[in-house]
Amino acid sequence: MTYDYTDKLYKKYSLLIVRAFNSLNRELQALAFDELNAGKAYKAVNERVKKVYKKCYDELIDILILFALHYFEDSCDKIVQKKGNKITYYVGKKDGFRKEKTFDAEKFVEDYVKTDNIIVKYIFDNEYERKLTRAVEAILTSGNKAEMKKELDKALRYWNRQAKQAGDNISMEAYIEGFEAAGVEYVKWVTEKDERVCPTCSARDGKIYRIDKIIIPLHYNCRCNIVPYEK
Ligand SMILES: [Zn+2]
Repeated sequence: MTYDYTDKLYKKYSLLIVRAFNSLNRELQALAFDELNAGKAYKAVNERVKKVYKKCYDELIDILILFALHYFEDSCDKIVQKKGNKITYYVGKKDGFRKEKTFDAEKFVEDYVKTDNIIVKYIFDNEYERKLTRAVEAILTSGNKAEMKKELDKALRYWNRQAKQAGDNISMEAYIEGFEAAGVEYVKWVTEKDERVCPTCSARDGKIYRIDKIIIPLHYNCRCNIVPYEK
């Protein structure tokens, strides 16, 4: 697979979150903190930050669904039809006995954000709340408006990095799911084979894995790939 589709859509998404954070900055800059008591200031900031984080999160879920659809379709060669967020594929012989099954991208993403995968948890679970709380605190203690802008930029960078990784992850997960749906049992690990490949990934290059046992990507920015393998 290539990450072209993920990258293209992600570019649009990152513009959207930049805009959301910019307008948050404008709103916060307009608040007269010195006229508010601590409790009021907390409430005012928390409400606004929460709203922006929720928007960024919801939009992220929407593009994750698109990634899931795209990469499942990319690897599954037994697709019957695609309708909305669902893909129907067949199991069995093309013209003989066959059964139809459905890949539900929305459900796939829903399950994905609940998995135990460490990267996933980091993005969607505790980290979401932690980032939000941290952003609110940093804004309230920033002292001046320039510092506040800096804190917001930092929060935006964190969000960006993790949302990007979530996109890469789900793309690969859906790609694997598509192979599994098509009956692929083994895959070969393929690295990008350039000097940026880390030693852990490099050691896996060319190795064969059972598709239901593979863990990929391995780390942030891992762009290793898989190809079906016949044993
Ligand atoms: Zn890698």
